[in-house]
Amino acid sequence: MKEKIQQLRDELNQHNYNYYVLDTPTISDYEFDQKLKELQALEQAHPEFYDENSPTVRVGGSITKNFPTVVHEYRMYSLDNSYSKEDIEEWEQRIIKTLGTDDISFTCELKYDGASIDLLYEDGKLKQATTRGDGIQGDDITANVRTIGSVPLQLRGDYPQRFYIRGEIVMPKKAFERLNQERVAAGEDPFMNPRNTASGSLKLQDTAEVAKRGLDCLLYFLVGDTGIATQFESLEKAREWGFKVPNYSRLCHSTQEVMDFINEWDTKRHTLPYETDGVVIKVNNVAQQQELGYTSKSPRWAMAYKYKAEQVDTQLESISYQVGRTGAITPVANLKPVLLAGTIVKRASLHNADQIEKLDIHIGDWVYVEKGGEIIPKIVGVNLDKREPDAVPVSYITHCPECDTELVRNEGEAQHYCPNTYHCPPQITGKIQHFISRKAMDIEGLGEETVELLFRSGVIENYADLYEITVEKLLPLERMAKKSAENIVKGIEKSKEVPFERVLFALGIRYVGETVAKKLARHYKNITALENTTVEQLVEVDEIGNQIATSVVNFFQEEYNKELINRLKEYGLQFELSAEATAGQTDTLKGKTFVVSGVFSLYSRDELKALIEQHGGKVGSSISSKTDYVIAGDKMGPSKREKAESLGVKIIDEVAFQSLIIS
Ligand code: AMP
Ligand code: ZN
Repeated sequence: MKEKIQQLRDELNQHNYNYYVLDTPTISDYEFDQKLKELQALEQAHPEFYDENSPTVRVGGSITKNFPTVVHEYRMYSLDNSYSKEDIEEWEQRIIKTLGTDDISFTCELKYDGASIDLLYEDGKLKQATTRGDGIQGDDITANVRTIGSVPLQLRGDYPQRFYIRGEIVMPKKAFERLNQERVAAGEDPFMNPRNTASGSLKLQDTAEVAKRGLDCLLYFLVGDTGIATQFESLEKAREWGFKVPNYSRLCHSTQEVMDFINEWDTKRHTLPYETDGVVIKVNNVAQQQELGYTSKSPRWAMAYKYKAEQVDTQLESISYQVGRTGAITPVANLKPVLLAGTIVKRASLHNADQIEKLDIHIGDWVYVEKGGEIIPKIVGVNLDKREPDAVPVSYITHCPECDTELVRNEGEAQHYCPNTYHCPPQITGKIQHFISRKAMDIEGLGEETVELLFRSGVIENYADLYEITVEKLLPLERMAKKSAENIVKGIEKSKEVPFERVLFALGIRYVGETVAKKLARHYKNITALENTTVEQLVEVDEIGNQIATSVVNFFQEEYNKELINRLKEYGLQFELSAEATAGQTDTLKGKTFVVSGVFSLYSRDELKALIEQHGGKVGSSISSKTDYVIAGDKMGPSKREKAESLGVKIIDEVAFQSLIIS
């Protein structure tokens, strides 16, 4: 069995490498998932072969309560910055003076814009991952970093027995966009930029959430004495050992060649899948590096060249206000078209009222527009020299541009909302579009535009109406062929099989995204239980906070929603967990309440909780007289232990728990 497990781990490591590092997968995602599931099952059945670097850790599932501080064995320096050819020539002169030779070559690399990371490998396995922190000490974020697909868990080739390697954890532009789409779909504010989102993601407590963020890790520096003579070779070596080391670095023999590299990449960098904000120039020869040494802040042998963020000024013609599915208002600047980073820009995002006020924008102003990681560029300032004396400041709208309802703004929130949830046209169509979307009901044949058309023609006013659609009702519509009409009806019919958790997501409850919907579905098992729950009970569910709980309860109290859901029930949608999802359910733990605390080795905390629920038990969040068992792992807090003891609650470990459910 051990061999089988090892073989699957090797195989999955190889596929991970092919996919994330080489970007050339050799099997389908489906096949990969099957193998991963097989390994997960074997590991669960054979906890004695547990390995912290098994490819199964990539999916996450453990919770990190706090990130211990780690003192860096080798300090993490920052870099000096340069902005021009003259800066670089000056730097070169200083180096020539110190080294007493002008025989110096440079490695030029792109400067990846993310969060720096320090990885420790021992015997080819990832041991520790630490943030830069203040350069002297950082935070141990190993569990989170293990979920990043391009971070090798097992090295290949002739790697040193023990070494540190440094790099940057970035959020690729695509992953950033996708994440923001999901957030907006769940009624949350979008994140501002990929860099902050990458570093924020690394500090999430739930590794499963980190795993879903689509982070990438690009390496650029081997630390300490590795016996490798040059920076350029060390990049090649690291690549051989299985690290993702972008292949764009170039060995240059003069500052002119360095400048050529810089100029070439000034525009080309925008085509890369991740953000870069400059070039890092490093003295190639390691012996020379050592001779040059460090200042108190940075290596003397390296220099960052920072690109100016691409910026232009253009005139702001007007502001339009978009109304989203949840009623959130997004102001958008309409600009006089202008060329920026290779594309014509006509619109820019302004985020919210505060942003407009902060920038003190007047209509007709010449505004500076910048292109960051986002697809839509943003306005970063106003060119006051060009302001007309009679320009009027923007006054934010007070009423919905679509339905004229007075807008509201909840305390502590940045966005204004149109509260006319059920009768404001873009909110109606937005909700239906969300309902039919791929991750929700995934209705084939129906797209966003068709939904608009159906709404405008009066065929539907809400998502329940979809199930009353017939081919006859569709045929009179503009450009509706018989075949497409039939497909739509078929697609709608088929959606009745979509499982409960996705139906729950499709309902469009604010703050209930895909993950929360899954959690709620698993916990409550059917819609009736959820309809009758209270805020107090909801916050007892793992990771459901007050905001989500209140939103759920309000949703189900609303008459309008009750009616829609009753209709959906009559149409035969899935409103309870399927037999498949409830397979393996028993009553073994019925009536028993468990609290899970500490860190475990056989199971992740989520797995333990799922097992408790699967066997009919309840998961409590804090120890009280109602608790029957505390399952204690490593690092359970002493105060919790005391409390359990004083209340006479049984404390068991994961093995004892296992025997409870197996017997
Ligand atoms: P700064 O944060 O502006 O002082 O720049 C220094 C940071 O640039 C380092 O801490 C690294 O995280 C980051 N960086 C990105 N790409 C590279 C690279 N190719 N070589 C060295 N540092 C890099
Ligand atoms: Zn409205």
